[in-house]
Formats: sequence, structure tokens, C-alpha cells
Amino acid sequence: MSNLERFYNLVDGNYQASATGCWLTTANPYTGADWAEVPQCGIDDVEQAVAAAYRAFSSGPWARLNATARGKLLRRLGDLIARDAEKLAALEVRDNGKLYAEMLGQLRYLPEWYYYFGGLADKIEGGVLPSDKAEVFSYTKREPLGVVVAITPWNSPLMLLTWKLAPALAAGNTVVIKPSEFTSCSTLALMALFKEAGFPDGVVNTVTGFGHEVGTALVSHPLVAKVAFTGGDATGASVYSQAAKNIKHVTLELGGKSPNIIFADAHIENAVKGAISGIFAASGQTCIAGSRLLVQRSVYQQVSEKVVALARTAQLGDPMLSTTQVGPITTLPQRDKVLQYIDVAREGGAECLLGGKRPEAEALANGWFVEPTIFADVHNQMRIAREEVFGPILSIIPFDDDDEALSIANDTPYGLAAGVWTADIRRAFRFTDQIRAGTVWVNTYRAVSFMAPFGGYKQSGIGRENGQVAIDDYLQTKSVWVNLAEEVLNPFVMR
Ligand code: NDP
Repeated sequence: MSNLERFYNLVDGNYQASATGCWLTTANPYTGADWAEVPQCGIDDVEQAVAAAYRAFSSGPWARLNATARGKLLRRLGDLIARDAEKLAALEVRDNGKLYAEMLGQLRYLPEWYYYFGGLADKIEGGVLPSDKAEVFSYTKREPLGVVVAITPWNSPLMLLTWKLAPALAAGNTVVIKPSEFTSCSTLALMALFKEAGFPDGVVNTVTGFGHEVGTALVSHPLVAKVAFTGGDATGASVYSQAAKNIKHVTLELGGKSPNIIFADAHIENAVKGAISGIFAASGQTCIAGSRLLVQRSVYQQVSEKVVALARTAQLGDPMLSTTQVGPITTLPQRDKVLQYIDVAREGGAECLLGGKRPEAEALANGWFVEPTIFADVHNQMRIAREEVFGPILSIIPFDDDDEALSIANDTPYGLAAGVWTADIRRAFRFTDQIRAGTVWVNTYRAVSFMAPFGGYKQSGIGRENGQVAIDDYLQTKSVWVNLAEEVLNPFVMR
């Protein structure tokens, strides 16, 4: 047996290894060393977890629990996450290499999702229909879907899981979670809090392992009613087509190539800070990364210089330290992919103003770091401007006027987010109207909230997470007809 820390799945209220007894190792992106093991599950584990979730949905205490009690459980869970925020944040950092300060900020904010959706649980209402038939009373009920499979990526495991779990449970569904093979530990650690909060067995279950094995098996399982997926667009397309085979509900939160647009009239110092946080926060590993910086030509030189100057000050280092500003890339394959995109940008003719390689410092040699990298004179047709990199690479693209900015901003298959920096309120509203993206920020970037619907236009996804609308994606509507007439009429007499 290895001496790495081991984490176990929660299935039907029991902590367990995989049916085969195989394990997957998980590495710390800062040291490059393996530090933990999680079960490598297979088909048998999928069957067990889905069966447990289906039983919990169809019978047992969860199925009988009223909505107010469901809400209380969610709020209790929120309190426990607040209590354990530091512990969970430190686990996330070991697994995904993001800054402790950022992960702690996320963990301290997460309870709000459970409070908000816990509060919504007993406000899910149907309606009485104005009937056009005599002596008929009809109304609608809004009911949960059943077993929901939640599939999450590696960049913000607990936050992106929460965006699914909180509305799914508030609506009365049960859940099977498949975390990323690279960052499963914090999700498995969270499971203890579900037990402590008092959730009945089988309401929340986990299955760790490879996406192409357990992910596919979960998505195609006949007892699964819905798949809520966050990840890359190619995997999303495959999940979508698998789920279509037996007509499952699907929510897809996919990638982006978001434009962050700076006009000459903007407060330039603020806009530069927004450009930097838009791309270098989380080492660029966010779906909403403002990876295309569109800058009006009259301030192009000035903005480029300021962005480079500020990016140059970024401290790379141990993500647990409060002095570190940019951490490593979460996975080794992703680090290599980011480096390949640097070659792609150079080959495409972009000019590298900063970075463009692994850092040389001895202290960073074992970690999966890439220097904050900035390319200038990027044209929107270059691959570096069209494909999601998911790393600390910024492309600066010049434009002359509003129409050109809008046309470049929308010239992408994605539509997740966009930023506009301007002092002109009319321009700001025009852009918020005309940019084809699920979120548009004006004079800010990267803000998200439990209250604000989040999701993609175009190939960035389907459905919305967060906000009141999110719960609709976990409900279905039933129409009920009650005949109040004394006598049922002769069916052979047409009326
Ligand atoms: P992937 O698409 O590679 O994986 C996402 C999840 O899907 C993982 O749990 C993965 O498991 C699983 N998976 C892989 N193959 C299958 C399959 N055939 N069937 C079912 N599940 C499968 O994404 P990454 O983990 O690389 O995450 C990065 C991506 O996530 C980026 O493209 C980013 O834009 C996107 N993202 C989108 C967000 C949004 O809200 N729109 C937010 C954050 C990230 P395994 O890890 O084992 O392969």
C-alpha cells in the first residue's frame, strides 16, 4: 500500500474505495509530486451510485421531506462549509495549484449559494390555470427531474460543483458527482459535511475516475434524468450527443474566448487592472478569461505598455503564500498545451511582448508554471485569438471604432462573457445590448454571484447556473386536470 493520503467516495451514505480496488494518484501542481489517491471507479461503481441516488429519489426520507426541511438542510450545509472553509481551500490548492487567497475567497463565498437556493426550495410554486372547460379544475406542479449527474472540471472544483448542487438539491433531485480526475480530493472531502448536515443516504454520491470510463457510463445511464456539465467544448459536445440517446435534460457550461474591450475614453489605469485580472487571475484557467484584449488604436501603445509593465510585476511562487500572485497550471498536460499555444501564436505572426516560456527560477522548477505571456498585434483570425487556451496568455488586438470593436468581439464561436471599458454611458448600453455573450461587464471584469444567472451564448453552452432561473433547469412542470362534474359524459357523443 502506498503512503499517499487516501480519499474515498460516498455512495449511499458509505465511504468506499472502487469495486476493483484500483486507485488514481493526484499530484500537487506546485511541487509536481503525487500527494493523494482517489478510487479509480468503473462501471460497477457507476451502477451502485446511480441505483443509490435513484432509490433516494423514489423512496425513503428525502422523497418524503418537505421543501422547507430541504431548505434547512442546505442552509446547515452552508454553515458547515463556512466553518471548514480554510481546510477545504487548502485542499483545493494542493490539488489545483490556484492561489490560497482565491480559493479561500471562493470557499467563504460558497455558503451563500446554499443559503440562497435553500431559501428558494419552498418557493417553487405551480399555478392554478384559468380553465376553458366546464367543471374542470386544473393546475400545474413543478417537480424535480430525478437523478442528476454533475460533472465538473479541475479549475474551481467546489465552486462549479456548488453551482449545480445547490439548485439541484433545492429542487428535490438526488445527485451523482463525477469530479475531474485531476482534482477530486476537495469534492470527496466535502461529502463528510453532507453527512454531518443530516442529508439522507443516497441523496449525494460520488464516482471518481476517468471521464471516458465513468463519465460516459453516467451520461448514458438510463436512470439518470439530467446531466449538468462544466468543461471543455469538445467533451461538452460528446456529453450532449450521449445524453440525447435517451433524451436527458442537459446543462452545458463550456469554454470561452472572451473579449475585454478598452476604449480611448476609459479610465486607463482601471482598465489595465481589469485586463490583468481578466487573464492572469487563476493563471488564466477560467472559462471567463478575458483572453482577447481589444484596444482602441489611439491608446493601443499606451495600454500595451501599461499592461506589460503591470504583468511584469506578478510574483510567481507557492500558491499557499499570500505574496504569490500567479500560481502554476493545474495539470501537466494543460501546461504543455499552454506552451504549444505560445508556439502557435508566434508561428501565426503575433509579437511576444512578455513571457512566452517557463520561468527560469530554480524555486519554480518542479512546478507546472508558465510565465504571464502577452502577444501584441494579434489579428482576430489567428488561432491564438480563436481557440481557448485556458492559460496565462493575453492577445492584444487593435481596433479603430465602435463598429469594428463590436464586429471583432462577436466574431468568435464562443459567447460566455465580455468586458467593456468606457466613460460613455450610451456606448456602454449599446455594447451590453449587442455583444452576443451570457455576461457583459462594464468597467469591471470577472464578477460572479449566486444571484446573477451565468452561462453561455453560442458554443459556450446551454442553460444557466446561478440566480432564480437556475432552479428551472432542475424542475419539470406537470399539468393536473380534476374533473368536478357529477357525471362523465358519453365518449361517443362529440361536442
Ligand atoms: P474537460 O472537458 O476535459 O473535462 C470536464 C469533466 O468532464 C471532467 O470531469 C472530465 O473527467 C469529464 N469527462 C471527460 N470526458 C468525458 C466523457 N466522455 N463523458 C463524460 N465526462 C467526461 O474539461 P477540463 O477538466 O479540462 O476543464 C477545462 C474546461 O472547462 C475549459 O474548456 C473551460 O472553459 C471549461 N470551463 C467552463 C466553465 C463554464 O462555466 N462555462 C467554468 C470552468 C471551466 P476527466 O477529468 O476524468 O477527464
